[in-house]
Amino acid sequence: MTDPSAGATDFISDIVRADNASGVFGGRVQTRFPPEPNGYLHIGHAKSIAVNFGTAERFGGQCKLRFDDTNPDTEDAEYVDAIVRDTAWLLGYAPVDVVYTSDYFEQLYAWAELLINEGKAYVDDQDGDTISEQRGGYGKPGLESPYRNRPASESLDLLRRMRGGEFPDGSRCLRAKIDMQAENMWLRDPVLYRIRRGHHHRTGEEWCIYPTYDWAHGQSDAIEGVTHSLCTMEFESHRPLYDWCLEQLPLPYEKPQQTEFARLEITHTITSKRRLRTLVEDGVVDGWSDARMPTLSGLRRRGYPASAIREFCAETGTTRTNSRQSIELLEWYVRRSLNLTAQRRMVVLRPLRLVLDNWPVDDSGNPVVEHFEVANNPENPDDGVRRVAFTGELVIEQDDFAEVPPPKFFRLSPGKEVRLRGAYLITATDVVKDDDGNVIEVRATYDPDSKGGTAPDGRKVKSTMHWVSVPHAVPVRAALYDRLFTAAVPGEATDEPLDDLNPDSRELLGGALAEAVVADADPGQVLQFERLGYFANDTDEPGLFHRTVGLRDEWAAIQKRAAR
Ligand code: ATP
Ligand code: MG
Repeated sequence: MTDPSAGATDFISDIVRADNASGVFGGRVQTRFPPEPNGYLHIGHAKSIAVNFGTAERFGGQCKLRFDDTNPDTEDAEYVDAIVRDTAWLLGYAPVDVVYTSDYFEQLYAWAELLINEGKAYVDDQDGDTISEQRGGYGKPGLESPYRNRPASESLDLLRRMRGGEFPDGSRCLRAKIDMQAENMWLRDPVLYRIRRGHHHRTGEEWCIYPTYDWAHGQSDAIEGVTHSLCTMEFESHRPLYDWCLEQLPLPYEKPQQTEFARLEITHTITSKRRLRTLVEDGVVDGWSDARMPTLSGLRRRGYPASAIREFCAETGTTRTNSRQSIELLEWYVRRSLNLTAQRRMVVLRPLRLVLDNWPVDDSGNPVVEHFEVANNPENPDDGVRRVAFTGELVIEQDDFAEVPPPKFFRLSPGKEVRLRGAYLITATDVVKDDDGNVIEVRATYDPDSKGGTAPDGRKVKSTMHWVSVPHAVPVRAALYDRLFTAAVPGEATDEPLDDLNPDSRELLGGALAEAVVADADPGQVLQFERLGYFANDTDEPGLFHRTVGLRDEWAAIQKRAAR
């Protein structure tokens, strides 16, 4: 059997290989993806999912989805459901093990009592502001709490009464007794438990004290038997505390090892849940799943294939150096994937009537209808062909016609000949205008000998345009998107990313006309609208198509510019 980890050259795989060789974890590989259910997952979380689930998969280990649900104020069951759904979508399978830090509340509490009994933790009667003031800073000494050396029995009694609900929120807390002069601020007697009343989405009103991140996280890893606790760089400074806590406790498995990697950041995008929540709450976007959001549910709505996001995360590598990837590169992965899977259709977003004056009528005086066979996807012959109806009453894109063509305009203008894709060559002869002088209709003639779009005499026709037959058209709506943030690094200038919001990030078009089969598109299906881009049929409101990405490879253009 081949070693599935063989190709993996990232530093985390190297660490796991070394650990397997030394046998520290007895060959076990166990990771976890630990979101807090206080928002939806975003593209940055995709990286963490890729690293955690990916590492476990590569080494035949296990990865759990663990909800880090220790703050009843901001967490909600809606977020839990969304996170399970979005994780499953990204992975392509439902995560097998879904666990909750709140399942460990009793064990975490028991370990807190153990620390007190061993003189390694105490109840502090001061409020949070006083405690932060006393913490000091770099080069600034910390101040010991007057309660630091109270007897263990007193702290134990107070902690039990805290749990019993005797004291108001924030009036007391449990702190580890480590070192108020430690260079690492996290070791200056960090808070382990705080009093906080609120409804917890799983434990209800059962608890009124909640463990802090630092007390919950490492201990949850230890309870589950995590071997490699993989997190982002901002937790590097927490690692000594992570280790300190674990070293005080009788662990059921080997002590887990925390390893940090760089966050995924992307240009024109933010990956802060707090700020994403602001966009939702302020109504800047239509909810967490708005197709402009960098959330997994937003990207899915927009038509991003999960496999493209997975490939992007895997192929851009995992390092310890923070950097920002170009959104154009992510779009390149999306386009590469959709090019192979998306069926082609003709849709006119901003219709302009085009009437063929020499189009024949049948014996009863009705315009003739012809049908052309068109390949569904030239990249994939297995997708077959479809029949597209053609008559003398058509629509084309408004900007494919110019009454007075600017230089280098090769599309339709009076006297010019163009190809209607797969159908006929046509020549514009005249225009019809409204009272304001706007062109509302183009008159043209077709060459009956050019069926399929080939000139009988081999004459050159430069332009090929898409079209839709009016009597066979179905109306659709389309949403075109621009970057949600105008700046490549949102907030770079003012420190406030929301200052860089693009006020014109979405354009809704109500009057688009599509060839008939577009009506049969499944909710969520992505189609390529010829010459316009990839469009995803909305999942909630079929018939509304979100432009996933355009057809132009902007990544290639950026690369070319960089090479110059
Ligand atoms: P926020 O601070 O915006 O709420 P978070 O990082 O606290 O986000 P969590 O729900 O705690 O959100 O994240 C779960 C996991 O995902 C953590 O291990 C975190 O390190 C990781 N993660 C979050 N954002 C990114 C990112 N941009 N790139 C890589 N991993 C990330
Ligand atoms: Mg967090």
